[in-house]
Amino acid sequence: MGKFDKSLNSLSMVVPYVNLIGQHKALKAEILKAVEDVLDRADFIMGKAVVQFEEAFARYCSTQYAIGVNSGTDALFLSLKALDIGPGDEVITVPNSFIATVSAIVATGARPVLVDVEEDSFNIAPSLIEGAMTPQTKAIIPVHLTGKPANMKEIVKIAAHHGVHIIEDAAQAIGAAHRGQRVGTFGILGCFSLHPLKNLSACGDGGVIVTNSEKLYERIHALRKCGLKNRDESPEFGYNSRLDTMQATILNVKFQHIDAWNQKRRENAHYYRENLGDVVMVPQEHEDETAVYHTYVIRAQSRDELKAFLQMQGIETKIHYPIPIHLQEAAGGLGYKVGDFPVTERHTDEILSLPIYPELTAEQMDKVVRAIRNFYQSRISRSL
Ligand SMILES: *Cc1c(COP(=O)(O)O)cnc(C)c1O
Repeated sequence: MGKFDKSLNSLSMVVPYVNLIGQHKALKAEILKAVEDVLDRADFIMGKAVVQFEEAFARYCSTQYAIGVNSGTDALFLSLKALDIGPGDEVITVPNSFIATVSAIVATGARPVLVDVEEDSFNIAPSLIEGAMTPQTKAIIPVHLTGKPANMKEIVKIAAHHGVHIIEDAAQAIGAAHRGQRVGTFGILGCFSLHPLKNLSACGDGGVIVTNSEKLYERIHALRKCGLKNRDESPEFGYNSRLDTMQATILNVKFQHIDAWNQKRRENAHYYRENLGDVVMVPQEHEDETAVYHTYVIRAQSRDELKAFLQMQGIETKIHYPIPIHLQEAAGGLGYKVGDFPVTERHTDEILSLPIYPELTAEQMDKVVRAIRNFYQSRISRSL
């Protein structure tokens, strides 16, 4: 795949994998005005826009509190720290997430314990969680991968039974819900990323944590600004992980569009499902869930050939993720090996993320559908 990635960049693609320029074009005047207001107020650190964003985000999730931080990774790290998780503790999560889910655990000194995922949802398999628990298990971090809710009903039951915390990695899933309840609100803490590629994004790094616990809110509030609970007093040593006022002011503009953008992603997903479901495995959606399709991941035969074929037609695709976390060099010390997570490993060879962003045109989507159909059609006729 590298061969094609190097010769053609996103901008020369007929269907690039993302279109951040398109997303910001329509909002440019409004964003520039908001940035100007911050320049005029000069409240660059913990300014008015940060508080506004936090209040709006908490309202959106129906939680008591939201705390802006500087990334999704830090949202996870600070959540673990606020629960006193560290050396000697174990935290259960999955091997098929973005690497940061596990990096955040390792950064606390705790040990990540990985559990394989469900065949169809790409999310943690509840039936495997108890087998991975030990007396050291302190928390479970389910990841709502692709923007599809993990099976929180089961996970909440298991966590409650064993007295362990749930920290949700909802980095890819803002707005996703199970029976109307938004993800990020099932556990004690919910973590979101506002990275430029996420469904709601800053123009730089950003993250946010939601919770209903006043105690955890106050602790994280202090931890993100050097442990200071007010201007002068630090009950404990902390970190510097604030959400910038500049990013918050941009987020306040973009936040107003998140539901419409997610809806467009869902419509695009529906179109793919209707038009590709007979040639590749497409994501299915259960009645009681709302998925927000951060990525649209199909499972395809001859995936590498399909990816190269699409690239030649100007259609850019990605793989999330080509190397499962347990097989990363960084994970060498965790003691895992090839074969430990068969579902994740099988997925790795089959998965392909198609462009799904709200700015896609009907023509572009049609082109993607036709190219994929042509690929399998020509393979069938060649083998006849
Ligand atoms: C993006 C992402 C993160 C990390 O977020 P950053 O804002 O990039 O630090 C963590 N977990 C998952 C599942 C992600 O997709």
